[in-house]
Amino acid sequence: MKKADCRTCIHFRSAPYEARIEGCYLEKNMVSKQKAAYLDEQQLPGKHEKINLRGDCPDHEVEPKKLSFWERLFAVSA
Ligand code: SF4
Repeated sequence: MKKADCRTCIHFRSAPYEARIEGCYLEKNMVSKQKAAYLDEQQLPGKHEKINLRGDCPDHEVEPKKLSFWERLFAVSA
């Protein structure tokens, strides 16, 4: 079985550009979650190193691959 890599998961956000603190932002794994967007700074993500210690996280989801320009063009014209 292929190991789950947090860096390829859609729930992972890295600092400093995607989030203030690096970690797992899947709601059930988060230490502290805020509903209001303006309270984003107070959110605490889950420790992805601990949750996915053995690389077998059941919630790992890979972001769908973006289509190239030509693939999108052919998809529209087909
Ligand atoms: S711990 Fe699991 S859900 Fe969270 S970022 Fe890593 S693989 Fe994704």
